[in-house]
Amino acid sequence: MAVPIRLLLALGLAVSVAGAPSPEGSGGYAPAVADTARPTVVALPDDERLTALPVGAAISGFLSARGLPPRAGRFVVTDTGLVFLSADGRLAQTYPLIGPVRVRDGRKSRTTAVSLAYADTAQERPFYLFRVDGGVFGTEAPGALLDLAARPRWLDSLTSRPWRYDRALVNPRNQAAIWLVVRSMEQSAYADSLYTLFGRPARRAGLVNGRGRKAGRLGEYIASRDSLALDPARMSSQEQLRHAMAHELAHRWQARSPGQIRTLWEGVQPIRDSRRYGHDKVSEHQAEAIAFAVHFLQSTTTDPAVVTPLEHYEQLVPGTGAMARYLALQPIYARHPLRRMLTTGSPD
Ligand SMILES: [Zn+2]
Repeated sequence: MAVPIRLLLALGLAVSVAGAPSPEGSGGYAPAVADTARPTVVALPDDERLTALPVGAAISGFLSARGLPPRAGRFVVTDTGLVFLSADGRLAQTYPLIGPVRVRDGRKSRTTAVSLAYADTAQERPFYLFRVDGGVFGTEAPGALLDLAARPRWLDSLTSRPWRYDRALVNPRNQAAIWLVVRSMEQSAYADSLYTLFGRPARRAGLVNGRGRKAGRLGEYIASRDSLALDPARMSSQEQLRHAMAHELAHRWQARSPGQIRTLWEGVQPIRDSRRYGHDKVSEHQAEAIAFAVHFLQSTTTDPAVVTPLEHYEQLVPGTGAMARYLALQPIYARHPLRRMLTTGSPD
């Protein structure tokens, strides 16, 4: 049956696309009310609508693994999970979509390894922060990741994948190896840079004691003794050890120049992610910002082309920018390729 054109117009349907129906009814297909040729669309609950993994989808952003400084790169959805490829090509790592099977109240379930921590869509540029296994991923364009995170029940229905455990940086039972790691770190060129910025502790570094371990500390700065303590046996990477070293020496700076830190810290916003270390504790937040600033400056000394923008550091730990700008003024960074940009805001 041909539908009168006036009715089509009244229904707001696009005549030009559908084609005006001919009186014989042989015109192009025109969607109409109660057209039985049209498949019925039934709204499925949101978490059941996704029936296949969006394999191959890529989401650009930055990853912060285990609280470490961010790395620019992209997540690619694969059938074994999310593969993170860093922009500098140095890192490819798989993150599972679902956690290991846990039994609670006689019921088996698996925790979702991808979830949305928060979304800030009120800004001109939106920002989404996702939790992934042991880390967070920030992006302006979440795409498929938002779909995955919104469907925990669907994710739970996926086939189990082997869960990956981090390997310790050093065997926890090998005391000699643990001490070797600590001694090599405190005598490294990296540590020398940190001593130049924050001063060298009066005593050699020790190991985190039982009480510190119980509190989950990977490092400590003991102000009364002016010494550091580290726990490399519970760290999973050299990067974590470097971060702990910078974080603890930042506490040394805090202890010695509280007024200076207070001035630099004016106007810094709190950490928004409630699970991030330093959330709701200013002294820890400051130590994280200082360690992040050191990481930014150290990783951009030689090749600023593979830079993870300072803005990403700031999104995870506000105050990193202020600290990086201050530290860039120090003589050790006199030849830093980004010094001028950081200290004057102008690229040349
Ligand atoms: Zn601390």
